[in-house]
Amino acid sequence: MLNAKEIRKDFPILERKVHGKPLIYFDNAATSQTPQVVIDCIVDYYQNYNANIHRGVHTLSQEATDKYEEARITIQKHFNAAKPYEIILTSGTTHGINMIASGFASLIQKDDEIIVSALEHHSNIVPWQMLCEKTGAVLKVIPMTESGQLEMSVFHDLLNSKTKLVFCNHVSNALGIINPIEEIIEAAHKVGAAVLIDGAQATPHIKPDVQELDVDFYVASAHKLCGPTGVGMLYGKEEWLQKLPPYQGGGEMIETVTFEKTTYAGLPHKFEAGTPNICGGIAFGAALDYMNSVGFENIHAYEAELLAYANEKLNAIDDLKIYGDSLEKTSVISFNIKGIHPYDIGAILDKLGIAVRTGHHCAQPIMDFYKIPGTVRASFSFYNTKEEIDLFIEALQKAKMMLL
Ligand SMILES: *Cc1c(COP(=O)(O)O)cnc(C)c1O
Repeated sequence: MLNAKEIRKDFPILERKVHGKPLIYFDNAATSQTPQVVIDCIVDYYQNYNANIHRGVHTLSQEATDKYEEARITIQKHFNAAKPYEIILTSGTTHGINMIASGFASLIQKDDEIIVSALEHHSNIVPWQMLCEKTGAVLKVIPMTESGQLEMSVFHDLLNSKTKLVFCNHVSNALGIINPIEEIIEAAHKVGAAVLIDGAQATPHIKPDVQELDVDFYVASAHKLCGPTGVGMLYGKEEWLQKLPPYQGGGEMIETVTFEKTTYAGLPHKFEAGTPNICGGIAFGAALDYMNSVGFENIHAYEAELLAYANEKLNAIDDLKIYGDSLEKTSVISFNIKGIHPYDIGAILDKLGIAVRTGHHCAQPIMDFYKIPGTVRASFSFYNTKEEIDLFIEALQKAKMMLL
């Protein structure tokens, strides 16, 4: 079993105080904290081998290129992609989704259908709406139930020969529900549709195997995985990446350029125009190495314990409602206390050193479904402890007394 007390020593930020109180960081679903090994990796890059990659003959450029490409292989192995060039380094989940949505504009026709789930993050709704506007394709939505599950029977009914693309998150960021993506992928493939899975919220807790899932595209962000912000990955099956046009034109993504005709570089460079976030990519690799050294099975088991503990304590508070009660959940709890605005709870918790998220969590359709302005969301990581949850419950009781 994982020893959170030991693990906390890897995260210097957990030592700091907020408003004179020890920081309790329960906003991990928005971004995770960074271990010292990743911070060291970032410093090492700028201190020792900062250079542009792929083009230089000089030593620094070659060192940086080697490290960057090693990171790609670390990412490839982590997600079990068949080939390193099926991993495109992006600026994050949003970038990866936009790359695919924009690429599909040339493969989709009027009246084709795209299916998304009701549980999506805005970054998974808006690019598809833009694609539909551009192409005349139609957006269909898999509805959700009161408990936060997708209505899978409706999904099966929505699928037909016009369905070209299905889009779903692996785990909902607002509720923490793990979606049945295996079933979604299998059913979508039966009608010839491609599937893109948003793994931003799943990857901090689950190690996905893209070949076993047989998924066409999978995207994630490093900053939710103990890595830096502004870097992420897009996995695409080779045949799809060959078929899709480049997203941006520029340096690095070309083979030859003349004013008459430009030919594009091969994978993965076709999708990596311009100077990338070199340091970020290398640090992403270091973050995955760190998380694998802790072990995803250990992380999952420990976080499940934290989730069960927090659930029990929260359920004992009068007038507190938790949204999304599935057995298949990651360590995220979205809730409200009757008669209190989530923002007010968040503001009082902050004064007590506790960081939670309040609001619509970039998922307004879910909030509309429950007819609420937002929720308080506490999300736990493997460096959190039961003692912190006890302090959080105490603080919540205090907030409730003050506000009611
Ligand atoms: C965080 C998140 C995103 C957006 O990630 P960025 O790093 O901001 O691009 C998308 N989808 C889900 C489910 C998320 O949790």
